[in-house]
Amino acid sequence: MFELTFLGTSASAPSVRRGLSAAMVMHKEYRFLVDCGEGTQRQLLASGLGFRRLDRILLTHGHLDHMLGLGGLASTFARWEMIPEMSIYGGDWALQRVQALMQVVFGPARPPLRIRYQAIDPGVLFEDATFQLSAFPVSHRGPGCFGYAFVEKAKRPFLADKAQALGVPAGPVRRRLVEGGTVTLDDGRVVGPDDVLGPLSGGAKLVFVGDAGRVDELVEVAAGADALVIEATYLNEEADMAQQFSHLTAAQSAGLAREAGVRQLILTHISRRYRARDVLAEAQSIFENTVVANDLDHFRIVREKVAASDQP
Ligand SMILES: [Zn+2]
Ligand SMILES: [Zn+2]
Repeated sequence: MFELTFLGTSASAPSVRRGLSAAMVMHKEYRFLVDCGEGTQRQLLASGLGFRRLDRILLTHGHLDHMLGLGGLASTFARWEMIPEMSIYGGDWALQRVQALMQVVFGPARPPLRIRYQAIDPGVLFEDATFQLSAFPVSHRGPGCFGYAFVEKAKRPFLADKAQALGVPAGPVRRRLVEGGTVTLDDGRVVGPDDVLGPLSGGAKLVFVGDAGRVDELVEVAAGADALVIEATYLNEEADMAQQFSHLTAAQSAGLAREAGVRQLILTHISRRYRARDVLAEAQSIFENTVVANDLDHFRIVREKVAASDQP
């Protein structure tokens, strides 16, 4: 299961209701801030998420509406929050802009917190026993734009009660069963994984795309996602402008969701030129299970089901 909270959902400039791009993805004890537009600090506080354990930041690209908030955030961390280190993942271009920003914030002296700049390539960025985070290339203005796929590893839970009842001893014998092996107990009985493992669970997939100018190259990475987050900066009536600025229309994003067979489409990066309900209507005419994210919206992404809830 992944949790997702939108902190900013506006394109290019904030509106009264929408801040600039930022979202938090959470899994177990991990927190990943995806982009950090201006105003993200207040949104972190308003959402109740706060600054705790917020030391991994993923950047989709280097445009200011996605990274300008990092200067203020780093300054707060350094002065008040006692967070000694932050890792910022992104393409070379995005990281160069962040480094230039930090020079302005902290001056020529070494910043009082350690900032690790992690230049990324497509592929796995982070992995543990329960999930994998990988980056994939996205076409937008400028080089080194990335999207991120969060994939939970599906597994069969070990049913300790059943193992106990069968007299399976703790230790290596149980490990063999969890790994899918069959064991013979001291009394000669044979126990297999189906005797002590529950049905497959987990395996949620969340695909997060920032700004993008085309969708054809995203079908494969988005395939079968339980939730696809992607921009919808324009409506089809201004498709030529979308193409000129390398952005997507709501119709294009919905077309991607349909083609990739995702379960739910969540649109963000909403322009002040439109009403959200018009963006939603255009997308839903192509892909029914669509929502337009608002600031502070919270989602729980589980395999085969996405449940919106009002509690962050
Ligand atoms: Zn943008
Ligand atoms: Zn952009």
